Order: sequence, then structure tokens, then C-alpha cells
Amino acid sequence: MPLRPLILALLLAHGALTFAATDPEFASCKNALRAPALENGVSAETFDAHVIPLEPDMSVLALLDYQPEFRAPIWDYLAALVDEERIADGKAMLAQWGSVLATIEDRYGVDAATVVAVWGVESNFGRNFGKRPLLQSLGTLSCFGRRQNFFRGEFFTALRIVQEGHVAVEKLNGSWAGAFGHTQFMPSTFMRVAVDFDGDQRRDLVDSVPDALASTASFLAEAGWTRDRAWGFEVTLPDGFDETLAGRRKKRSVAEWLDLGVRRVDGTPLDVSSGAMGLLLPAGADGPAFLTTRNFDALYAYNAAESYALAIAHLSDRLKGGNAFVKAWPTDDPGLSRAERREVQTRLAQLGYEVGEPDGVIGEVTRQAIRAFLADQGLESDGRAGKKLLERLRTEADSSPSRR
Ligand code: CA
Repeated sequence: MPLRPLILALLLAHGALTFAATDPEFASCKNALRAPALENGVSAETFDAHVIPLEPDMSVLALLDYQPEFRAPIWDYLAALVDEERIADGKAMLAQWGSVLATIEDRYGVDAATVVAVWGVESNFGRNFGKRPLLQSLGTLSCFGRRQNFFRGEFFTALRIVQEGHVAVEKLNGSWAGAFGHTQFMPSTFMRVAVDFDGDQRRDLVDSVPDALASTASFLAEAGWTRDRAWGFEVTLPDGFDETLAGRRKKRSVAEWLDLGVRRVDGTPLDVSSGAMGLLLPAGADGPAFLTTRNFDALYAYNAAESYALAIAHLSDRLKGGNAFVKAWPTDDPGLSRAERREVQTRLAQLGYEVGEPDGVIGEVTRQAIRAFLADQGLESDGRAGKKLLERLRTEADSSPSRR
């Protein structure tokens, strides 16, 4: 192809068209996005500065289609999200940001412990924002894969966030799907509910903790949070209770639940001001049971998963000095805290199994190591890390410290 170097040179000389040579499909998609971006409030200057130079990150497409083979049981999920470490960190944050949180509660009616619990679950109090450049991820998802229309809306909104100066483009990093900052808002959520609380005219969910905490409360208020209403309560069910009555949205009055024999687990009366409540049985009637109010639904709106809402709800109770659930989960192999998960990883590494950096996250590499360790003991495993595995690893280390 003797003409090719010449064409390349011409394209390079043309500056912005450089990437047409490296990825023509993405380049033509970006060109097609120009008009709708401008219709959605993105300026030509913003588009030229931040879209034209983008290169695609095709790795986000695998994440878009990822179907986890391994689903953690609810007790594993909660053991890591509501552990002693996060409770202690949350209490420190409550102390550090106490006056800001009090002002936020005055304005939005959302209590400090709930706001801090969302923060702890969303970004581990600002320690984990996600590392992917948002414009690159959203630009790629706008041009390839299954949900291009949805992601185009988020992409244009992310460009407006940069254009309006809320967050600098080099700080706009997040999850592969585009959630960013302390609150892990999607760009559209940002535009709807994020607020400037420190008064610098920027809604900065990356570098301003007051903006982020107030934006969390703003989200919950918009989702229907009612001041001074509990999210719900752990309850006991009478023998032979009809499980088909359970369901977050199958709401009944306090009087109806009392008639059905449902009681608070701590013996205190059910509060009529809680309004209608739904019954949550995350692990069936043999596990902990909860009556949940519309405030729980507001937590659910944050991430559309009941397990997630329960983690925030429970963490908020623990931050207020509340106890662990009274009823045990229906398992003989409870879940592990992050400290215990790190211990699992460290012990596996000491025994010669590859786990990568012991980070307390049981990912595919750690599960592979768990399966290998147990296979060497003649046992089959799906790679789950629970209390029994930890005990086995402790015993193993005691009996043969230098196995490999
Ligand atoms: Ca601000």
C-alpha cells in the first residue's frame, strides 16, 4: 500500500484527524456524536477539547457484559461492608465532619449516621473512587456495546460537568460505568441532585467532602427520605408465618403487622409514625427479618439492590451505637470481615498460593487460590472464603509453616 504513508502524513498534519487513522470506527462515531452533544448543551469548544482526542478503552465492554459466576451470599456481602473497621472509620468521620453533618441534617432532614453510612459503602469514605477516566469510559460505551443510548446521555452530561467547571477532567475518574466521586453518582444523578455546600459555586464531589455529604442527603431527600423516621427494624415472626407476605413493596400498616404477630426483636413497640412498612426476608424466614419503611426505599433508590440498602441501613445503626442483628444468618459458615479476608490472603500466600496483593477483596485470583488450597487437601470448593476456610488455614499454618 504505497499510498498509506502519504495518507497518514496528511492525516497527522490535520491534527484532530490523527485518530481516524488508528480507529476509524470510533472516529466516525465521535463525529456522529457532535450534533447531539451540542443539542444537549455541550459547547463546540468542550467537544473539540475533550471528545476529539479521546481514544476508546475497549476493556469496559467486557465489564458491561460481565456475568459473575460467583454470587456472594447476603451474609458474606454484609460481613465485609459492615465490619469493625468500617464502623470505626465511620465514627471517626462522624466526629471529624460533625458540624457540617449537623447543618446538612437541618437542611435536608437526613441524619449524620445515614449520610456517613452511604459514604462508607459507596467509596469507603473517599478512599475508593474508581480509577477509570470517565470521559474515556463513557465515550467508548457511547459508541460500542449494548446500551449506547443510555451511555450517550451520561457522556454528554459528564462533558457538561467538566464544561461548567464542577470537576476538572483529570480528576473525573470512576467506575467503568461512569459513577464517580465520594458519592459515586452517575453524571445524570449529579446534574439532578448534587449541590454546592461549601459555597465555592462548584458542585465538587471529588475534592469537597461537604459538597459530597450534602449531595448524598440531597439525593435521599429527593428519593423520599422523611426526617426522624427509622429505615426499619429487625423483627421476629410467629411460628408458621406466611412467607408470601414478605416483600419490600408489599407494605402494610403497623396495626396489620401487629395482627400478623410481627414484633420488634428488642421488645420495644412498633412505631406508628414509621408509616406503612414492608417485610424483608433477605435469607428467607430462617434468617433475620426486617420491617422496612419508605426511608429504606430511599436507600434502595441509591443502587437498586436490597442487600445494598440493608448494608447502609445496618451500618447507620451501628454508627449510632446499635448492635449486630439478633438473629443469626441461616449458615454454619459465616462470612468474613475485610481484616479476616486479608488474613485469608496472607495465609494462602505464606503457603505458596498466588493471591496478588492482600487487599481484603476476594476476587477471581483469590478464589482460584482457595480452590487450589482446598483441592490439595482433597476438597472441592467454589472458592468462597468463610469462617471455616479461615480456621482451616490457621490450623494448616500451625502444623506446617513452610509447606512449599
Ligand atoms: Ca463546592
